[in-house]
Amino acid sequence: MSTIEMMETSMSSIEEGPPAVLVQDLWKRYGDVEAVRGISFHVRRGEIFGLLGPNGAGKTTTVEIIEGMRRPDGGQVRVGGYDPITQADQVKRRIGVALQSTALPDKIKVREALKLFASFYPRRIPVGELLQLVALQEKAESVFDTLSGGQQQRLAVALALVNDPDVIILDEPTAGLDPQARRELHGVIERMRAGGKTIILTTHYIEEAEKLCDRVAIIDRGRIIALDTPRRLVARSRGQSRIAFRTATPIEVNALRRIPFVQKVARNEEGYTVWTVDVPRTVVELIKWLESGNHELLDLHVMRPTLEDVFIELTGRSIDR
Ligand code: ATP
Repeated sequence: MSTIEMMETSMSSIEEGPPAVLVQDLWKRYGDVEAVRGISFHVRRGEIFGLLGPNGAGKTTTVEIIEGMRRPDGGQVRVGGYDPITQADQVKRRIGVALQSTALPDKIKVREALKLFASFYPRRIPVGELLQLVALQEKAESVFDTLSGGQQQRLAVALALVNDPDVIILDEPTAGLDPQARRELHGVIERMRAGGKTIILTTHYIEEAEKLCDRVAIIDRGRIIALDTPRRLVARSRGQSRIAFRTATPIEVNALRRIPFVQKVARNEEGYTVWTVDVPRTVVELIKWLESGNHELLDLHVMRPTLEDVFIELTGRSIDR
């Protein structure tokens, strides 16, 4: 048994079977650039697995190797147990990739594009079902170049689904879309998961990873630096919660530092923020202190650490920088 076969077997469970995708110690270099430096992970059946990282982190290279579009310099990949290089036909049957929609002719109609793509495959999902899934029923007879960016992107997702693949790869599907179009696409992705698909999603939008993904691999400079559910990544971080509040009368910032569990204090135009390692006890102490000083509390809200905080903690910088 090869190492990768042993990994597949050891990661199998009775309910889930072998992982949908297995990536083991992947390496890829372009000239002097080491784009991927020893990446390993597995994707479970039916989950949305996120690759989150800044531009140039190696996300696209990783998914292109999974798709069989690029050869790794080292390491191995299995999709449903098949090797994308030596068993490309088997992998193509099982994987759907959302192409950059600009690859379509401008004058093609939505329905025509779906029929054309479906004609390449023996197994296919009915066009009406696809249109419904991506909420493009009303645009079925519209010409491609009249679609909005969000509609074009939803069409790209529908095209990835025509042959009813098990695994869908979405590389930065919402890049450049406005918040409304992004939310609509998120709905499509969630419906795909509800339909039992396994989804690999690359993104540099932290909120997207946090909202959609069952598990997230944070990638930086060609390596995975953390991998878990968004909730556990945040819970494990040392990031502190913040309590932001406003009062009717000004208060002395230094006095806030003496409240138990408060680690840091800031004042801005909105009011005051305290960082704490224990939200419930700090809230109780803070309110007691405000009452004892006759400071009327106007509002208060708690902000938990986010994946953004986790990213900064791990890399020392924000994802957009
Ligand atoms: P982006 O979101 O910008 O695509 P990414 O995380 O997907 O980023 P990759 O596209 O995989 O990252 O790129 C990883 C590194 O490899 C980057 O430094 C990039 O410039 C480099 N790179 C990617 N493709 C090539 C190529 N064909 N030739 C040379 N260098 C490349």
